[in-house]
Amino acid sequence: MNEVKDAGLYPTGMSGRIEMRTPDEVSAMLALKSCGWGTKRIAAELGCSPNTVKRWIAEGGWRGMAPVTRRKSLDGLEDWIVERFRQHGGNADVVRQELAAEKDVVVSLRTVERAVAHRGILWRDTAIRGHRIRGTGILNNELYIGRLVWNRLRYIKDPETGRRVSRLNPKEEWITTEVPELRIIDETLWDEVKHRQGEIDADPRVQSIKATRFWEQRRQTHLLTGLLRCGCCGGGFAAVGRDYLACSAARKLGTCTQKRSYRRAELESLVLDLLRRRLMQPEAVAAFITAYGEEINAGRASQAADRARLEAEQATVMRRLDGLYDAIADGLRTPGLKEKLTSLEDRRAELDAALSAPAPSPVRLHPNLSEIYRRKVMALAETLADPEIRTTALDTIRGLINAITVHERSDGTTVELEGAITAMIELAQPEAGKSLDVCSVKVVAGAGFEPAAFRL
Ligand SMILES: [Zn+2]
Repeated sequence: MNEVKDAGLYPTGMSGRIEMRTPDEVSAMLALKSCGWGTKRIAAELGCSPNTVKRWIAEGGWRGMAPVTRRKSLDGLEDWIVERFRQHGGNADVVRQELAAEKDVVVSLRTVERAVAHRGILWRDTAIRGHRIRGTGILNNELYIGRLVWNRLRYIKDPETGRRVSRLNPKEEWITTEVPELRIIDETLWDEVKHRQGEIDADPRVQSIKATRFWEQRRQTHLLTGLLRCGCCGGGFAAVGRDYLACSAARKLGTCTQKRSYRRAELESLVLDLLRRRLMQPEAVAAFITAYGEEINAGRASQAADRARLEAEQATVMRRLDGLYDAIADGLRTPGLKEKLTSLEDRRAELDAALSAPAPSPVRLHPNLSEIYRRKVMALAETLADPEIRTTALDTIRGLINAITVHERSDGTTVELEGAITAMIELAQPEAGKSLDVCSVKVVAGAGFEPAAFRL
């Protein structure tokens, strides 16, 4: 059910940036070149620039990206850090302070945690820091000072995402019970922590960030938000800085080895490109046209059956009316007869009206259905660039995809796409979507991306 496409983002050892192309495309370039095709003709056929073709041909074949090795500030200190973690009962912040004091290495709390995460110390920084007002996190747990607080938070379900989210209850609704026998932290230490938290809060940098009330702004939805999966650990991707995405477990916990980050725009264009190719595979077009035709035919068939039923009823009504007319002509007069006659004549008028509408015409699909489909699919990227329809287009395209899994291999990056054909049909033919709402055909994987898909 998946399609796999190899796509190196950038090849190694090349000066300047070269447009990302798949290994299949690069071998297609070389094959066409050896058939005597010119650079421009190859570029037009593959939908890329002549320069891209020229450079790939000069390269002589597809090459993946070399893994980046960077010197890390904690290199060689791992055992020392683990030892300190044991000493301080897993308190990463103390280890961080000692690193700065004794080893002159200043790093973030998260960096320290990451360095030892694979040794079984798996707390995220937020497990310690938590949220001061909400009373979450180790530093805010009032149970440690012998105070039990109930009803501080209530949980509601976000109708859009289906996620359970917490909301703070008004303070007067909290129920607090003193349980001094459970206290494990003395008041002085607790107060020091609260004082320190207050200082951090009062920091101008923190204040200026809070002043923006960033949490109230609706963040822009990106094409890939929530859809990316790590091919190594199966976990989700998270934003790293402004424009990059990476495996969240690898970055935050160090439990995954796929540490590489990907530029968002590059992954997006890779996915759009794959989607376009995937949807343009002959079997996908054929499946669309078949499904559309079948649905229309089914609709027509049920209309025809309705009509036949009405015609049969019309014949029966006529026959019974004829019998009644005969009886009246023969001099039969009863109160019940008059009533029966009126009701049958009313029904006959209804049936005549219903049957006077034209009979359904035989199925005629638009002769250019595959062409319309092709144009809509090819325009995916342009649609996304148009600010007027961006939101709608984004929803539609995201609807095509269930999950995108990113694998990092020695020969390059592989993106695996799972998508549903239902939304694809909706995209190509909005009115078809309505009649196909029960359609649940999944995109069936081909043997991968083949040159045939782009008319070679
Ligand atoms: Zn991972």
